[in-house]
Amino acid sequence: MSNIALIIGHDMNSGGAVTVNGVNEYSTWFTYLNTILTFLPQGNQYKVFERRNGLEKLVRDVNDYRADIAISFHFNSSSNSKANGFEVLSSGYPSSMMLSRAFLDGYKTSIRNRGIKVRKLGEDGGYFLNKTNMPAILLEPFFGSNRKDCHLFFRDINLFTNAVIDVINKAKDLP
Ligand SMILES: [Zn+2]
Repeated sequence: MSNIALIIGHDMNSGGAVTVNGVNEYSTWFTYLNTILTFLPQGNQYKVFERRNGLEKLVRDVNDYRADIAISFHFNSSSNSKANGFEVLSSGYPSSMMLSRAFLDGYKTSIRNRGIKVRKLGEDGGYFLNKTNMPAILLEPFFGSNRKDCHLFFRDINLFTNAVIDVINKAKDLP
């Protein structure tokens, strides 16, 4: 059995990037994480976290939960509406890289694969990735600013759920 921390990106007051339909990251994951949760493998303990009092407090809460792995849910955005694809952000630690590869291999979408991006402390996503005590990854499964990515992501959200399941199953194999 693993303790799995699932984190809604951003917060109620500052929702992050928006889709072409004007829905921000926070609202998207607030809605979808509860649905995704119903498909996740039984026998693990899951807890959904949201940022209420800043990022430092969130990281402390996740550490106090003693999660075995932590997954933060986001999506990308660009002023260039042609920018597209999915990627995983990682601290670069071997166990985080293993989870990142499990996501990339498991996501059977037709959205373009942009690979793994390593983020150090001080870079976007770096605080969460480097200050959590357990293997952590940050998912950017599509560009909200790209109409086709949005269409593919929401149409095939089950493919995304399957990739999250692969990450969770990988938690058992971590050193
Ligand atoms: Zn974000």
